[in-house]
Amino acid sequence: MSVRLILWYDKTVRYSLNPLIAVADKIPSVRVVLAEDTGELYAAVNEALMNNEKCVVGYSILTTMLVNDAFLSELKSILKYLEEKNCITIAGGPHATGDPLGTLFSLGFKVAFIGEAEESLDEFLRHLVNGTDPFTTKGIVFREEDKVIATGRARPVDLDKHDPFPYWRRIINPLEITRGCPYGCLYCQVSYIHGMSYRHRSIEKIVFYVKEMARIGVRDYRFITPDSLSYGLTKISREPDTGLIEELLSSIHSALKSIGGRIFYGSFPSEVRPEHVNKDVVRVLRKYVNNREIIIGAQSGSNRVLRLIRRGHSVEDVLNAVKEISENGFTPSVDIILGIPGETREDQELTLELIDEVIRNNGRIHIHYYLPLPGSPLGLHPPARIPNDIEVKISRLIGSGKAYGSWFSQKELSEKIIKLHERGVIVPSLYKGSFMKTF
Ligand code: SF4
Repeated sequence: MSVRLILWYDKTVRYSLNPLIAVADKIPSVRVVLAEDTGELYAAVNEALMNNEKCVVGYSILTTMLVNDAFLSELKSILKYLEEKNCITIAGGPHATGDPLGTLFSLGFKVAFIGEAEESLDEFLRHLVNGTDPFTTKGIVFREEDKVIATGRARPVDLDKHDPFPYWRRIINPLEITRGCPYGCLYCQVSYIHGMSYRHRSIEKIVFYVKEMARIGVRDYRFITPDSLSYGLTKISREPDTGLIEELLSSIHSALKSIGGRIFYGSFPSEVRPEHVNKDVVRVLRKYVNNREIIIGAQSGSNRVLRLIRRGHSVEDVLNAVKEISENGFTPSVDIILGIPGETREDQELTLELIDEVIRNNGRIHIHYYLPLPGSPLGLHPPARIPNDIEVKISRLIGSGKAYGSWFSQKELSEKIIKLHERGVIVPSLYKGSFMKTF
């Protein structure tokens, strides 16, 4: 049977969708259409129905998309229409993984893909093409009348077996070099979506995609990883694999020698864990990278909070990293979150002290307001109260340019996510305590 896979191609989730487009493009009898607005989506659905193709409509969902009431009500009415037309509606991404019940019953999708979906989407679509049962696919949760059926976790994906983006369509994004994270910080979705073990793309494959990106005309090369200095590690370690990081960067550098291009590593859209920063690895970065800023994930100036959220490093590690980075000619940009559940005024004051110390060492602060994200162990907890005088200090820091970030809009977002719980859009029961154990 011919299958038309229509993907809601929102720019905020394209990094999640691009590897899946690459998967689906390779299945004979599957035609992938990217719909950038509702009109394009309905047109593609109607065309599929007229051609007697099996219609599958997919969304990658972020919890933050659902706080937009107009988006939410339009999504629900689209899904209702598609169900009437016998299209299969599928959802993936962090929200579908963290809140499959809400995704199925509150939003109205037929199937939620849990975690990384390269292999499960491939299996699901091949079942449809071959006329076999797609609902036996591993890694999905689906509705059958009023019942919920979960098929269990799919196997972790081997990055070397999958394209990070469909470069043949001239669609690319920052290159994912590592997936999975063993730290499981309690406020973060990464380990709970991608698993607790590191999987790295091989240097050979990375160089291959860098060359493909160059062919398309890319000049700035950026990388996706939970920690740029974890490349090559197999488990939690305070020591980075400096030799392998150098091999990776020198290989990319050589591949770009005749073409030109700038390497951004340890900076947006990734960062580094503070305890991995040492003299040797910073020297390697200096040799190969073009970014002048290194982003350090610090999150709190309180060792009590760092232990509470299982960050696996201390405030002293952050200060050492800031010093090392700054002494070697980079600007340290330090990620901070305020409002972490369990944080007290005393903890917040310690965080302000850390901020001052970073600024004294020529660093910048990227400040975030805590977001309760489904699927993370703290996802059910509202933010800690932030007293007015501390908020005033934060807004002064932002006003002076010493700190940056969407603090005030994140505060509003955080409140709206809590309201999604109250309104039943997020249905917490599956992940209460430990989402992972439920499956
Ligand atoms: S915050 Fe960073 S280190 Fe912690 S689990 Fe998430 S990706 Fe891993």
